[in-house]
Amino acid sequence: MRDLIFKKIFIPFYHYIYRNNSRVKAYKKLIRRDLLSYDDLLFIQWKKLKKLINYCYKTIPYYQKLFNSLDLHPLDIKTLKDYRSIPEFNKLSIVENKNELINPELAQKNLIINYTTGSMGIPAKIYRSLDDQENICALRARSNSWCGWNLWDKTFCLLTDQRYIKQADSLTGEFSVFLNRKNIADTKNVCPERMFSWVKQIRKFKPNYLYGYSSLLEEFSVFLTNENINIEGLKGIFSTVEPLIQRELISNAFKAPVYDEYGCSEVPCIAHECQKGSMHINIDEVLVEFEEAEGDFEAKKLICTPLYLYGMPILRYNTEDTALIKTESDYCDCGLAYPAIKLRVSKGNDNLISSNGKLVSGVVIASYIPAVTSGIKQFQIVQKDLLSIKVKISNYEGPVEENERNIRKLLYELMDTSSIKVNFEYYEEIPPDINGNLRPVISNIESNLSYKANIRAKTLN
Ligand SMILES: [Zn+2]
Repeated sequence: MRDLIFKKIFIPFYHYIYRNNSRVKAYKKLIRRDLLSYDDLLFIQWKKLKKLINYCYKTIPYYQKLFNSLDLHPLDIKTLKDYRSIPEFNKLSIVENKNELINPELAQKNLIINYTTGSMGIPAKIYRSLDDQENICALRARSNSWCGWNLWDKTFCLLTDQRYIKQADSLTGEFSVFLNRKNIADTKNVCPERMFSWVKQIRKFKPNYLYGYSSLLEEFSVFLTNENINIEGLKGIFSTVEPLIQRELISNAFKAPVYDEYGCSEVPCIAHECQKGSMHINIDEVLVEFEEAEGDFEAKKLICTPLYLYGMPILRYNTEDTALIKTESDYCDCGLAYPAIKLRVSKGNDNLISSNGKLVSGVVIASYIPAVTSGIKQFQIVQKDLLSIKVKISNYEGPVEENERNIRKLLYELMDTSSIKVNFEYYEEIPPDINGNLRPVISNIESNLSYKANIRAKTLN
């Protein structure tokens, strides 16, 4: 009965009237497509792709120039093969062409800036319209629903968006948590005391699902296991943003299945696992092309086009990840017609640990760097030991002193200490690792979890 009231009254009221957004409407449209056939989904994909190409040609300065330089008109694109005549795009292309990629029809003040948490240490800003944001949330909600989640289910989030944390502390925040049934943990300065507070918060809120960065879920799982704390009643755990490495550990700690989401800041929610564990691509909203990967005969590069984002449209984005395409013989029997892939995602960021035992998510650091600096082409943060951090930068035209001051300030704040030594090194190009990757945040400390050995015995009130 309570769920029905939230489904029929509170959730629609929260989105339609209180927040004045289109999320519920978009979500309903998306879940209806779960019943469609593969061919129907492809038909929608093609229609949306044609609309996006036309729009880019008519409206977005970068694509107007690109199409002209290629002597290409949208009418020339009759097949996916024709579409491939548009060159691949990457993170550096976003940094270099940002101003010409922003949709001039949408006033800049109405756009929301997202910062990438990228795989190559390239700090890029992504611009979204309010509709883009809601469509991303609706697509994520549809993907979560493949694992039994409902729009009215209570969800506890281990993310690090401090804008929402501020909101949740206020009275209106409490009201939002009640109406929207989403509670967001304060993940600043993670330490045992902080995790005890999450336990209290979860026991009070009684969520059906947990949603969070995989490394935070992992840290919390180790803490719960070490402290012998049981969290009851969870139906599932959603892991996002970072590669899911410790599925079993997390599943055992929460006694619930763990589901993985695949996407990036540039192309959110590309694919999501179903209850049977297959990673299905949202092909009606994201076009994924598979291209030969250098030096790998099995796996393919993933070139993605988000078909629903118009604030800063991106065509043919190379995610830098590869995947194996599942053949028809190992098709998932969950009933969804969205095709499945087996991902090969490279290792993500490490978390940093300060001498006072506080832990900082590498994703958070990587996503805040573009917010506090300018003119940096590429960066890498390396924690050498508990007392020193090296920041590698390849810098063009950036205000050096200001960038250094801001990065130092950010690290002191996030690590909750100013006793850490931060040194800067400048490169023409930061050398990649042995696999050709450049992970933005690396820790040389043997285990990010080692500090847990020092957890003081505590009792929960
Ligand atoms: Zn499936």
